[in-house]
Amino acid sequence: MGNSSNSNGGTAAAAPGFPAQDRSPAQDRFPAQDRFADGAQYIGGRLRPGTSGRDHTVVDPATGHDVLRYELAGTEDVDAAVAAAKDAFTGWAGATPGERSDAMHRFAAVLAERAEEFAQAESLQCGKPIKLSREFDVPGSVDNTAFFAGAARHLQGQSAGEYSADHTSYVRREPIGVVGSIAPWNYPLQMAAWKVLPAIAAGNTIVLKPAELTPFTSLMFAQAATEAGIPDGVVNIVTGAGRDAGEHLVGHPDVAMTSFTGSTAVGKRVAEIATSTVKRLHLELGGKAPFVVFDDADLEAAVHGAVAGALINTGQDCTAATRAYVQRPLYDAFVAGVADLMRTVRLGDPFEESTDLGPLISHAQRDRVAAFVDRARSYARIVTGGAAPKLDGAYYHPTLVVDAAQDSEIVQSEIFGPVLVVLPFDSDEEGLRLANDTPYGLAASAWTRDVFRAGHATRAIKAGCVWINDHIPILSEMPHGGYKASGFGKDMSAYSFEEYTQIKHVMYDNTAAVRKDWHRTIFGDR
Ligand code: NAD
Repeated sequence: MGNSSNSNGGTAAAAPGFPAQDRSPAQDRFPAQDRFADGAQYIGGRLRPGTSGRDHTVVDPATGHDVLRYELAGTEDVDAAVAAAKDAFTGWAGATPGERSDAMHRFAAVLAERAEEFAQAESLQCGKPIKLSREFDVPGSVDNTAFFAGAARHLQGQSAGEYSADHTSYVRREPIGVVGSIAPWNYPLQMAAWKVLPAIAAGNTIVLKPAELTPFTSLMFAQAATEAGIPDGVVNIVTGAGRDAGEHLVGHPDVAMTSFTGSTAVGKRVAEIATSTVKRLHLELGGKAPFVVFDDADLEAAVHGAVAGALINTGQDCTAATRAYVQRPLYDAFVAGVADLMRTVRLGDPFEESTDLGPLISHAQRDRVAAFVDRARSYARIVTGGAAPKLDGAYYHPTLVVDAAQDSEIVQSEIFGPVLVVLPFDSDEEGLRLANDTPYGLAASAWTRDVFRAGHATRAIKAGCVWINDHIPILSEMPHGGYKASGFGKDMSAYSFEEYTQIKHVMYDNTAAVRKDWHRTIFGDR
């Protein structure tokens, strides 16, 4: 074990284990130290420690207590994981779609059996309310797994045909090779699922680097794959820092595709490295989702939708409702309704069933969110929230901001916290223009009872998803991905599955002629 790094602001603790009396109650809920006693890297079907010489401490953001100190992956661990994935590729790519599908159905069953353990681990490392982990993150990931188990049998090329009289052509859809994926900390299990499942369903093998802050459920996901009979080396996890393990994975010559989910700033760096090594690239980046309320909307429904859409996962959701544009006749009532509802939201222990809002992922993230709000005080008005409660964890009150200019930081930048800004608009066109007026384009919603307004909004808004009269729900069958600076490529759905394949044109000569007709363009006459 080397030097300790801890970006979560928690207190240092003795490695490798805590004395029993130092254990926080949360550690009794999910025994991370026992679970990952062998290390926090999963390479070739087994857990092992990293070899970077640097440690990281996972901190419970609800209490500030240390939960697990582990050695980060270094470049040698990435090399070992890529080698394991490369070794496993021939066998896994050569399995029939039916064999891959069977293994993935078993994988879904193992995940479902372990649902409660996954929910506990996710809530501990992220500070997520347990009801969110149990009812959203975990069942969503099980459903994704079942979906891709089915998709594995639907590898399709275009039908064959004689596109020249002398030839028969067809298209094969093939796996790409070793996929290198990088994921953020906000939905660690779902991000692991979104990266791993389409890749392996299509016959690829994968090395996933989760965020250092949240390694537990990615490691458990890979262990469940092994338990389901997916061969060693098909799913590997390297838990390391972005700058070394992450960049090394993206630039690795044996990695054929990079799939990255994270901030737009890091995505640009990842794109540079992936492009310079000519890799297939998939980027799921930041968001600043608009929430457009027309004057015929059901006000109560819009108020409830805005509070739920803004506060899900403590606002640490790339599709969270962050900018509500409300047509003038409803504006005052909407602001009052949102403020009233936000004040009813219960902050507390993520493991209590009654807790609505957990902490942010870390004290550093809480301070970052608070700084956005504090800067906004000079040009906008805080209607409710705007402060941290007196709790040890990284909590921040649900916050409603008004009177901000469209070009202000709080309207334009991704905050990734429980903060909603509301602005008025007059004409429909103005509302839609403002909705499109940020660099991002991941998701959006429009609220109206008028089918023509709804239809116009779905066409006018430049985003990868537009909800009508709702905000947030996702489905395994439907694609998730961005427009503009929110990236390109899709997660979930058949569209995602296709991204993890490459197509090959196969062309047969039908003539058996030695001298083909076209040869005369090179030598001789007809
Ligand atoms: P981040 O960009 O800081 O980190 C994401 C991942 O990249 C982490 O694993 C990190 O270790 C790694 N990383 C950091 N620097 C790197 C580098 N130089 N090279 C390679 N890897 C590097 O993002 P975050 O703070 O973990 O997550 C929040 C961000 O993720 C938000 O911007 C959010 O919108 C975005 N996000 C997007 C989606 C989507 O589907 N579009 C989903 C979830 C989160």
